Amino acid sequence: MKIAVLSRNPRLYSTRRLVEAGVERGHEMVVVDTLRAYMNIASHHPQIHYRGKPLEGFDAVIPRIGASVTFYGCAVLRQFEMMGVYPLNESVAIARSRDKLRSLQLLSRRGLGLPVTGFAHSPDDIPDLIQMVNGAPLVIKVLEGTQGIGVVLCETTKAAESVIEAFMGLKQNIMVQEYIKEAGGADIRCFVVGDKVIAAMKRQAKPGEFRSNLHRGGTASLIKITPEERVTAIRAAKVMGLSVAGVDILRSHHGPLVMEVNSSPGLEGIEETTGKNVASIIIEHLEKNSGPNMIRTKGKG
Ligand code: ADP
Repeated sequence: MKIAVLSRNPRLYSTRRLVEAGVERGHEMVVVDTLRAYMNIASHHPQIHYRGKPLEGFDAVIPRIGASVTFYGCAVLRQFEMMGVYPLNESVAIARSRDKLRSLQLLSRRGLGLPVTGFAHSPDDIPDLIQMVNGAPLVIKVLEGTQGIGVVLCETTKAAESVIEAFMGLKQNIMVQEYIKEAGGADIRCFVVGDKVIAAMKRQAKPGEFRSNLHRGGTASLIKITPEERVTAIRAAKVMGLSVAGVDILRSHHGPLVMEVNSSPGLEGIEETTGKNVASIIIEHLEKNSGPNMIRTKGKG
C-alpha cells in the first residue's frame, strides 16, 4: 500500500516508528507535513497539493495531528477522505475528541463511568457548581489544556471558588471535576487498536504531585488491566468513533472512570514500557481494514 503519515515532523518518535513499521511490512510510506498540504475544494475532483505537486495514489492516511493544528489538520484529513483515501482515524472523530467537554458528554450518554463533572458560565453559579461535584477537594481543568497544564487540585471550597473565579475572569473555559483521591496519583493508559486493547501502562505521578503526565515528571510501568477496564477502554474508543485511541482511565472505588480519549496517542512511552511493537500493530490494522468503501463519513461529518 501507499500510506501517507500526516505529521509536522518526520523526526518525532511516533512518526519515525510508523514509517519504519510500514516499510518493514512492505509499504511505501510518505510523511506529509500537515501545514504544507493545501487543497482544491471547489472541484468535482478533490485534490491535495504538496510542494507544488498533487498527492496521488494513496491507499491510506495516518493522521498524527497535534492539538495546536487540529483545525487545519482535520481539513486536510477530510480532503483525503473525500478522495477515497482510508484514514486510520476519521476527521470527525478527531475533531470530536479534541473537545474535552463534548467527549465527556458523548461518553456519559452511553453510560461509561466518568468522574462527576460540572461546567458553568456565570460566576453567580459557582457555589452550586461546587456542590454539584460534591464539594472540595476538586479538580479544575482548562478545556484547551494538554500535558497536565491547566489542571489544578483545590483542597478547600474557598480555594476552589477563587480559582474558578480567576479562570472565569480570564475568559477561560473550565470544567470542575470530582477528585478521585483513591487513584493515588496514578492513571492507566490503554492503547486501543480496532476492538482490542493492545497495550496498557500505568503512569504514576512523582511524589507530592497528583498529575501523572510523563511531561510532569510521572513514571510509566507495566500493568495488568482488569476485564472491566478493558471493556471500558474499548467502548470509550468506539463511542468516540476512533479506531486507534489512547484511553486514560482512573481506578476509583466505583470502578474504572474514563478521564480522556486521545486520538493521536504517542508511541514512545507505550512501546518502551510494554516492549510491544505498537507501530506494526497499527500498520497491520490498516492492511486489514483499509479500502475506499470502508470510510464511514467521507468528509461529510
Ligand atoms: P491533560 O489532558 O492536560 O493531560 P488530564 O485531564 O489528563 O489533563 O489530567 C492530567 C492528570 O491529572 C491525569 O493524568 C491524572 O493523573 C490527574 N487527574 C486528572 N483529573 C483527575 C481527577 N478527577 N481525579 C484525580 N486525578 C486526576
